[in-house]
Amino acid sequence: MSLITNILAIAEDQARAGGAEIINRIEVQVGALAGVEIHSLEFCFSIARAGTMAAQGELVVHEIAGKGWCEGCRAEVSLDFFVAVCSECGQTITEVLAGRELQVRCINVD
Ligand SMILES: [Zn+2]
Repeated sequence: MSLITNILAIAEDQARAGGAEIINRIEVQVGALAGVEIHSLEFCFSIARAGTMAAQGELVVHEIAGKGWCEGCRAEVSLDFFVAVCSECGQTITEVLAGRELQVRCINVD
């Protein structure tokens, strides 16, 4: 719940900075490895938006696939879990390249 409160606060700051009064839509990107349950994020939003500038707004979630760097393959491989081994060669992934994102991508305001 604190996560969505944060997202709403960021969106409201952006909306105010742009002189807007109503937030129609908040688009967030959530990485597959960010540890966020998207359904619960949407549910929390439907409750937390009450009384904010986004009271009638919708939340759009863009999911970003996990991606890591495998030293064994010298290549990018896809990751389903935060701690992962390469499905090609079995080596531990040393670097997560994508999938941990959790940020407001853009907002639509009036
Ligand atoms: Zn590999």
